[in-house]
Amino acid sequence: TEDALRQAQKMEAIGQLTGGIAHDFNNLLQGISGSLDLIQTRIAQGRLAAVGPFLKSASASATRATALTHRLLAFARRQPIDPRPVQVNGLIENLRSLLRRSCGEAVQLELGLEQGLWGTLCDSNQLENALLNLAINARDAMPDGGGLLITTAGFRHAGRDPALRDLDAGDYVVIRVRDTGHGMPASVVERAFEPFFTTKPAGQGTGLGLSMIYGFARQSKGTVRILSASGEGTTVELYLPRHDRADTAPPPDMTAPEPPRR
Ligand code: ADP
Repeated sequence: TEDALRQAQKMEAIGQLTGGIAHDFNNLLQGISGSLDLIQTRIAQGRLAAVGPFLKSASASATRATALTHRLLAFARRQPIDPRPVQVNGLIENLRSLLRRSCGEAVQLELGLEQGLWGTLCDSNQLENALLNLAINARDAMPDGGGLLITTAGFRHAGRDPALRDLDAGDYVVIRVRDTGHGMPASVVERAFEPFFTTKPAGQGTGLGLSMIYGFARQSKGTVRILSASGEGTTVELYLPRHDRADTAPPPDMTAPEPPRR
């Protein structure tokens, strides 16, 4: 799992890279629209001969913007998803020391793993990255320390809960990551899954963590839900579909999901 840390650091670097690309792209677009404005003004003034340099500059910016999007697409293609049967409890146990390092000295990490938990089907590298990302978010929400509780449970989804609208009815493994941090106002909960949405100071947050986790969960036919309020701490629930191999233990007793914390 030293690999997982390296992978997490790589993801952080990639996050910085994509954040940087978005920023550069925006600068190029601004350059293009600035040139177009100047071209328009020159035309209005009847100084057609003066538009040449601005046309050249707009065209050069457009070429650079195209090269940037190609870099982003190349990055996207390097991320193949490889779903395999995963025993979530074992994966979390193996990740324990990395999780502890990710959430920092001031935070007390506690695990509550359900005995005989169902197996699931997902990309284990991406699941590890998701959990490390959630631990880092929790750390950032608890600058003065606090608690991070990671629990697992089986959950039978009847398909009626409107909060889990995008989830097919069926059996799921639920991983809950709960912190005692500053929580999120409704306006942040609403936007938290948007790529590049961050409330962190420039250079500290990329705003890609939760959007990548959401993408991973949906690709795995699961979902993510955030239960949080300002000053109330945050619980992130990750739902992954049940997948038992023939050799796994019988299903555990059903555990109803906890009601949203208020
Ligand atoms: P980043 O961490 O780079 O900002 P994320 O997509 O992971 O990007 O998170 C988006 C935003 O959601 C954060 O900037 C923060 O405002 C909020 N957030 C995420 N996790 C938590 C948490 N555990 N507690 C409070 N706020 C959180």
